[in-house]
Amino acid sequence: MVSPASTPPPCPFEKRFPSQLVRDDLFFMSLAYNQAIDAWRRDEVPIGCVIERDGEVIAMAHNTVESAQDPTAHAEMLAITQAAAAIGDWRLEDCTLYVTKEPCPMCSGATLMSRLKRVCYAVPDPKMGCLGGATNLNELARVNHRVELAAGGPLEDECRELLQAFFRLKRASPEPPPRDAAGDAASPSP
Ligand SMILES: [Zn+2]
Repeated sequence: MVSPASTPPPCPFEKRFPSQLVRDDLFFMSLAYNQAIDAWRRDEVPIGCVIERDGEVIAMAHNTVESAQDPTAHAEMLAITQAAAAIGDWRLEDCTLYVTKEPCPMCSGATLMSRLKRVCYAVPDPKMGCLGGATNLNELARVNHRVELAAGGPLEDECRELLQAFFRLKRASPEPPPRDAAGDAASPSP
């Protein structure tokens, strides 16, 4: 079942156009940010994710929880599935995941289970984040894979403002606000 499309509040933010020549954390987070803008335009909680390998993007996704009516359709879960399909291996050992908000318990678990090399997130989430915000699955005493973490990375302020503005405008609109998207930011941290 697909829920009827609802109309999102107009997105007051523009996509970013980073130079293709400098493939640094800011470059890839900018692409994740653009995915979050796409999510907003589809009336989804604006969280975006890309996965990089050898300087190339091998997966990009945004939340589709509302349109798919799937509580597991978080940006990171979709991108991890895409990335594994792209390289034909479920072990993402030489890949970096960029996401605009700290992964929730489900997605944090998936970053470990997929053996990602590195996770870079923009906005820490002290409420539901499980890579350092509320807790850190990466520090389980006997976990057999740890990811390198880069928290509060590039575009933290921009990604936070995007989330906060989305919920502010949703509350101001006549349509009911989306329910807390399976832990993702019904009330993003300030
Ligand atoms: Zn998640």
